[in-house]
Amino acid sequence: MRTVDVVVIGAGPAGTVAASYLKKQGYNVTILEKEKFPRFQIGESLLPCCMEHLDQSGLLDAVETKNFQKKTGAAFMKGEKRCEFLFSEQFTKGWTWTWQVKRADFDLTLAEATRAKGVDVNFECEVLKVTCSPDIQHIEYKDADGNIHEIQSKFIIDSSGYGRVLPRLFDLSKPSSFTPRGAIFAHLEDRNRTEKTSNNIFVHSFDNNKSWIWAIPFSDGSTSVGIVGDKEKITAMAENGGEAYKNFIREFEDLSGRFKDSELKFEPRHILGYSIGVKKMYGDGFVLSGNSTEFLDPIFSSGVTFATASGLLSAKMTHRHLQGETVDWENEYEKVIQKGIDVFRSYVTGWYSGDFQTIVFTPLIDNNIKNQICSVLAGYVWDQSNPFVKKHDTILPTLAKVIKMKEKNADDSGGHL
Ligand code: FAD
Repeated sequence: MRTVDVVVIGAGPAGTVAASYLKKQGYNVTILEKEKFPRFQIGESLLPCCMEHLDQSGLLDAVETKNFQKKTGAAFMKGEKRCEFLFSEQFTKGWTWTWQVKRADFDLTLAEATRAKGVDVNFECEVLKVTCSPDIQHIEYKDADGNIHEIQSKFIIDSSGYGRVLPRLFDLSKPSSFTPRGAIFAHLEDRNRTEKTSNNIFVHSFDNNKSWIWAIPFSDGSTSVGIVGDKEKITAMAENGGEAYKNFIREFEDLSGRFKDSELKFEPRHILGYSIGVKKMYGDGFVLSGNSTEFLDPIFSSGVTFATASGLLSAKMTHRHLQGETVDWENEYEKVIQKGIDVFRSYVTGWYSGDFQTIVFTPLIDNNIKNQICSVLAGYVWDQSNPFVKKHDTILPTLAKVIKMKEKNADDSGGHL
């Protein structure tokens, strides 16, 4: 049986970042990927923070050659209200831009660059069974012809995303505390894209903050448009080939006719109940990264950045483990990743409660506050010098309360804030 240093399950952003980093350290790394690439994946708007992870794993140059849409900020809207964040104005020192990508192209680019570094990348290889122990791991997988193979490794990084291979096999998943929601989306031609609608992601909140629409422009002139809402709403929108979705995006007032006559590049796809938690992110002989850990919600486009952050950190820890060091997986890995997830958890909660909207849409918002929130939106959720990171669990509800009181006082005194 073939034995390698590390098997990585999945060739998404988490898996390719982890594998490329480990290859750079001289390990013999094999990726087993269920699908044939290019394949569709949702998760198209990146955050600036992920550029650091792509850089450290040696993948940034390959992505840079692809002419993906440059993203310099994000705009939030609700009816007439509008708030635009520019990453160049953020509080944390870091990347001020990133990309918006069709994941089929982006993930293929990462996988090819990873293979070019010497990682053995195997498509159409579905991991079926895994047995782990402190020193040697057994993996059974099925190839495209249905043949079963076995491989051994010293360590496994599970980056299987929504496949959640090890959480499923080892009973590591736990339900999310968020309301089960869903999303329906397609790529559309976007001939009415204007300077005003910009090239950055647009997010429209509606239904009293229970639903929202994303518009994510790509460099080829098409745009990804998705609607997020509770499960029942999305299920209804997906019926009859997504007829209700198509009508909605053509007629929704806040989109001002941008997609009125747009052709869809493919029939709408939908996904339900994606939020999920995890009981443990590591164990004897393995670590989880990316969506195999916890996935909260798409609202702040944090998924790929968490995938690259955890892919990179899991690889660094694995390197130390393979060097014979005792790694404190609990404190040096799980708690670090969990800390970042918990910051976003507060912002996701604030989005659906309306506190986030109260803060960003008030004319009272102070620039320092806006820049600190901007860093969270850029993915810099480990910067403890940012009060909007450090006090993430209390700062949004408290600030929203103060703003509401001030706005009420202004109303009572004739409309002046
Ligand atoms: P993936 O990208 O899912 O890659 C995992 C790979 O593992 C896949 O290629 C899969 O085929 C493979 N695999 C699965 N099972 C097996 C198996 N048994 N054997 C071998 N291989 C296997 N994130 C953003 O950053 N920006 C966004 O704008 C955004 N929008 C989103 C919108 C919606 C509606 C949703 C639900 C999510 C969104 N996300 C977004 C999140 C994003 O999709 C994920 O966080 C991201 O793709 C996770 O990357 P990953 O590498 O962990 O997993």
